[in-house]
Amino acid sequence: MKTGNLFLPQNFNFEFYKPSKINEFLRSNQVSPQKKWGQNFLIDPNIVELIFSSFPKNDYEIECIGEIGTGLGVLSHRIASSDYPVFFFEIDPFLCKFLQSNAYFQKNKHTLLQGDVLKNLNQVANKKIFIFGNLPYYITSDIFTTLLKTIPEFQGGVFMVQKEFAKRLIEEISSISIFISAFCEIKWIKKISKTCFYPSPKEESALITLKSFPNRIFTTKLEVEKFELVLKTFFWGKRKTLYKSAKEAPFYSSIKERDTLCEALVEIKVPEKTRPEQLTKNQFYEIAKIFIKKGA
Ligand code: SAM
Repeated sequence: MKTGNLFLPQNFNFEFYKPSKINEFLRSNQVSPQKKWGQNFLIDPNIVELIFSSFPKNDYEIECIGEIGTGLGVLSHRIASSDYPVFFFEIDPFLCKFLQSNAYFQKNKHTLLQGDVLKNLNQVANKKIFIFGNLPYYITSDIFTTLLKTIPEFQGGVFMVQKEFAKRLIEEISSISIFISAFCEIKWIKKISKTCFYPSPKEESALITLKSFPNRIFTTKLEVEKFELVLKTFFWGKRKTLYKSAKEAPFYSSIKERDTLCEALVEIKVPEKTRPEQLTKNQFYEIAKIFIKKGA
């Protein structure tokens, strides 16, 4: 692994740690924080430090770094200082222009992918990438599923998410927690108070890390999509048994697919009345593997 220069030390002179500065800057450009894009800017230098200290030093095979949602650059200015090429994802045209206007953005080394990250992740599909993101909360789940589906060699990341979302990932059996856990180890780092952001979000946040397992259970895009379909089926319609969901969920065009899913349940001896929360993550992986192997 290239160890490289990681990130420059904390720059306490970064000007947007103060809400008054953010307001002054945005107002002078006749814009304001966009709720629809989940713009809650990080304003606490200690949390920025925590984000970078959560970056695993020698553990990964990284060839580039990504940042989802650059905002005013509180993470970008540090990420850009590493030796790695960086791919920045940002949807807001004003913030994209702002990013490019900063001296730390070097056109020959860094790439800005302007637009919806969900559509642009395929541009790094063949990279061994590590990703940072204080995520826009309105699409957190979609970001994780899209990035795990699109980037087979995703190495891991440090992410700010809503606290409740993080708890669901770590403590509960849900479709998203089973999905992510198939590919990555999920680690809770810290609860983050609303006051660390401007404007303050409605809910508390949490910092988590993902670390990809060296061997994936589902490798091709098709396999990952089938695995996703299996989970979507079993978590469709609350309180339904697994067999009922397999027979009735509206995601299949052929009866053969439904039958194959039921056969997979029988093969691993799932009793008739079992509901999704009664299975272990490994049992879901086994069912999906059989479903895929039988070529449904
Ligand atoms: N990284 C900055 C920080 O920590 O202050 C900004 C974080 S803010 C919570 C989320 C950022 O994601 C915003 O800059 C927002 O414009 C951007 N964003 C929102 N939706 C996006 C999308 N679909 N694709 C790419 N960026 C998006």
